[in-house]
Formats: sequence, C-alpha cells, structure tokens
Amino acid sequence: MTVLPSSPRSPLKLGLLGGTFNPIHNGHLAIAGEVRDRLQLDRVLFIPAGDPPHKEDRSLAPAAARYEMVRLAIADTPSFELSDIEVRRKGKSYSIDTVRTLKQQVGPTTDLYFIIGLDAFLDIHHWRAPLELLQLCRFVVVPRPGHSYRSLAAISLLPPLDHQALAQLDRGAVPRLDISIPSCQTIICLSISLCPVSASEIRQRVRRGQSLANLLPPPVESFILQHQLYQEDTDRTDV
Ligand code: ATP
Repeated sequence: MTVLPSSPRSPLKLGLLGGTFNPIHNGHLAIAGEVRDRLQLDRVLFIPAGDPPHKEDRSLAPAAARYEMVRLAIADTPSFELSDIEVRRKGKSYSIDTVRTLKQQVGPTTDLYFIIGLDAFLDIHHWRAPLELLQLCRFVVVPRPGHSYRSLAAISLLPPLDHQALAQLDRGAVPRLDISIPSCQTIICLSISLCPVSASEIRQRVRRGQSLANLLPPPVESFILQHQLYQEDTDRTDV
C-alpha cells in the first residue's frame, strides 16, 4: 500500500473496501468510485477476505484467485489499491483485526473510511467489536437493492433515528444522512444509484453459461473462464 504524504492540516482520506470478492464485480467498483468522488477520498484500499466469518464457503474460490481477480479489476485505476493483509492472515478474517493493524500502519494523519453496502451494515451488531470499529473508522454506507435504510431504525447499536429522514434517503430525496453516536465517528449514509449486481448472481450465471456482459471487468471474466471457477453447483441460492 502506498501512503501519500499529508500536511498536518489535511489528513489523508483512505477508503477501505473489504469483501469476499468471490468474484469482484462492477458493483464493487461502482461504490468505490462513487464514494471516492463524493467524499474526496485520496485512495480506496480493496481488502479481499481470506476466510470470511459471515459467508458460506461452499462456493468460495481460493483466496489467491480472488486476490488476483481484484488485482486485475483495479489495475487501471491509480486511486484503487490492493491489500493482502487478510489473505495472508491465518484463521477467520475479522474486520476489527484488519482495521487495528491498518490504523497502526497509517498513523493519526490518516482518516479511515470503511465503505460498506447496506446489506452488510445491517448485520454490524453481529460483527466482532462493532463499537470499536465505529470508533476507529468513519463508516460510509451505500444502498443495496432489496434493502432499505428504514431498516436501520431496528439496530440497537444506533441511536433513535428519524424514520422520515431514512425514508427520504431511500427515495433519494436527500443526498446523505449523517448519524452521530456518542464517542464514535459519524456514520455517513449515502444516497447513490442502486447497482443491481451481486457475486452470487455472477456465480450462478457462470454455472448456467449465461452472459456476464456489464457485470464485471472483462479481464476478470477471462480469469474465471480460464481457471474454470464457479462451475460446480454449490451455492445455497441454487437449491
Ligand atoms: P455475494 O453475492 O456472494 O454475497 P457480494 O456481491 O455481496 O457477494 P461481497 O464481496 O460480499 O460481494 O461484498 C463486499 C462489500 O461490497 C459489502 O459491503 C457489500 O455490501 C458491498 N456490495 C457488493 N455489491 C454491491 C452492490 N451491488 N451495491 C452496493 N454494495 C455492494
């Protein structure tokens, strides 16, 4: 990871996008680019999970293959970088371990922005050390088809939320909503265009021999076909 020099008055803004990336797809690239531009991030660091704690592993491609697909996908975007911190680590990939290590590496002159889809954020209270994560990073939540910001009102970790403001965000009537939690960093919920792509759908399409046009970068598609990934019928969504 390259860390840019930053002046004392303007900390570096580093986005983190963790994921299984099984495989990486245009939805990941779209949210990383949109958040980078909207929040003027200097860099976005893609962090493929080694052994993700929240995923069924029956259709999981080897970590080295998922890492390579991310490398191929971001190769032409200088503001996107790749971290092997989780694929190198033995055992489960917990975000808190990653963030603690990164925070130590980058120091106090870099602010961390944890980019996350709404589907994943709605599960945050089940993650390891969620409050510490919210202290160490500014979370940036982006919408995901099939999920609504109104569901945030049910998360006990968050303060009472204004239902009308959440509904406005769902409708795209406001560009963002900031949620303050005592002694944590502000959570930024963005309204951006929905991107209806998922890795599970891509795996299913590969198995069925269907087109992958506009779903993922062409070099990633070639890699999947060349290495015959996702051919087996192992995804739970298929049964
Ligand atoms: P799967 O379909 O296998 O569950 P996925 O498409 O959700 O995979 P992940 O690698 O698990 O991909 O996602 C990493 C992060 O990117 C998560 O925070 C997830 O919410 C977010 N994300 C993935 N796809 C989208 C999308 N189309 N729109 C918004 N966020 C997304």
